Amino acid sequence: MRQECWINGKWVRGASLETIAVSNPATDEEVGTVPNLSARESNRAFDASSAAFPSWSDTSQDRRSELLHSMARLMVERRESLAQLVTLEQGKPLVESRGEVDYAASFLTHAAEEAKSVVVEERPAPLSTKRILIVPRPVGVTAAITPWNFPLAMITRKLGPALAVGCTQVVKPAEQTPLCALALAEIAAESAFPDGVVNIVTTDGPLFSKCAFSHPSTRLVSFTGSTEVGRILIEQSAKQVIRLSLELGGQAAFIVFEDANIALAARQCALSKFRNAGQTCICANRIFVHESILEPFTKQLCAIAAAIRVGPGTHEGVTMGPLIDDDAVSKALRHIDNALSLGARVETGGARLSIPGFSQRFLQPTVLSRVTDSMLCCREETFSPIAPILSFTTEDEVIERANATPFGLSAYFCTRDEARIQRVAPRLEAGVIGVNDGAPSTSLLPFGGIKQSGYGREGGAEGVREFCELRAISWNTAVE
Ligand code: ADP
Repeated sequence: MRQECWINGKWVRGASLETIAVSNPATDEEVGTVPNLSARESNRAFDASSAAFPSWSDTSQDRRSELLHSMARLMVERRESLAQLVTLEQGKPLVESRGEVDYAASFLTHAAEEAKSVVVEERPAPLSTKRILIVPRPVGVTAAITPWNFPLAMITRKLGPALAVGCTQVVKPAEQTPLCALALAEIAAESAFPDGVVNIVTTDGPLFSKCAFSHPSTRLVSFTGSTEVGRILIEQSAKQVIRLSLELGGQAAFIVFEDANIALAARQCALSKFRNAGQTCICANRIFVHESILEPFTKQLCAIAAAIRVGPGTHEGVTMGPLIDDDAVSKALRHIDNALSLGARVETGGARLSIPGFSQRFLQPTVLSRVTDSMLCCREETFSPIAPILSFTTEDEVIERANATPFGLSAYFCTRDEARIQRVAPRLEAGVIGVNDGAPSTSLLPFGGIKQSGYGREGGAEGVREFCELRAISWNTAVE
């Protein structure tokens, strides 16, 4: 298990003895320590990235794509050991961790292919003696700041597109999950990227962002995390006018209309809500169910929730792991208490699960009924396996309630009526909309938010072009 940073093609322990301890959320045991790099050492990664940029951006597209494919291949070959590492430091069940490895690798292969279509375009000019050319160029040195909930995929989603179009990158993973990032560094090293093209540093967030935004070469910072930190980065970016790509918090509504296939809606809702123990930014946070189908829907969702096997992610048959830390558990319990005190009812779950010999971070998958919009679990991002069910009467009413949040990352609705799909989808204020679909994210889809959920897209053609800037050339051909 690699516990050193990867800077300029070398493993670096850091000069100071300061380290970041990594613990297993299922047991609370320390499983490793990584360097807590100083500003000087972190800056070296930006210097290296800057020195590597000219030749990397001049490298042929075929070569860049080939290296990314080789990195993806190595990831898939090491699916099992990488999955073990994801479960070790993040907690999700092995079956989900294996899925994450493939999902993460797909961002590399997708970017490697998509970048081939980033080409010079010619546009009609106003005079026959002129030509207008649009030339995409890699933005330059980029930085990635990533969260702990998908310790591999949130990195490759930024690293793949950046490298594919010719940018270099310095990645800073979340303090909770640096081991996966360093395992990726090892794979990048074996894939023979030139020195300085990929750099992975472990240090604390504020120190890193200070280095990123003050380094003269940085051109873009891509961040996934909380809206609170996103706002800080927006302010910091102002000084050097550095481009940002921000994937921030969500407050997803999941609407089940009266004509939905109830069994399918319950399955998709459970998928959206309970995956990764509810710790994804596109998890259903408020489940609006038409009043005429409240009972059968609630019953089916409860049956799915009750069948989930909660336990340490490494145990056979477990389908939900622990929450990441004690704060996450406290927040979830606070949300349940608040809802109950205001009249909600627990339909299933509702409490912490004690597993002898393991940490206190396991929560029962919970379904709450009689929930109202003003309860804490509907106003804050729950980030836990709590499914609050709210009742609604009309389409207009539910759209208004779904949109009554400052966030706009994802939204979902289930219906069999195509006219309703056409009508409702554009009225939902969210960047990603699942229709009868609780798992919309793939490397092919431009993922990102509106409103306070951020800006910029990851995945799809848009996610790759995010790392390019355009040069518009007006060429007068009549020189004689
Ligand atoms: P979460 O609440 O899910 O942990 P955060 O937004 O706090 O989300 O963290 C996401 C990432 O942002 C992590 O890599 C973390 O280290 C980093 N981070 C946290 N605070 C700051 C900050 N003030 N400046 C830059 N990065 C930060």
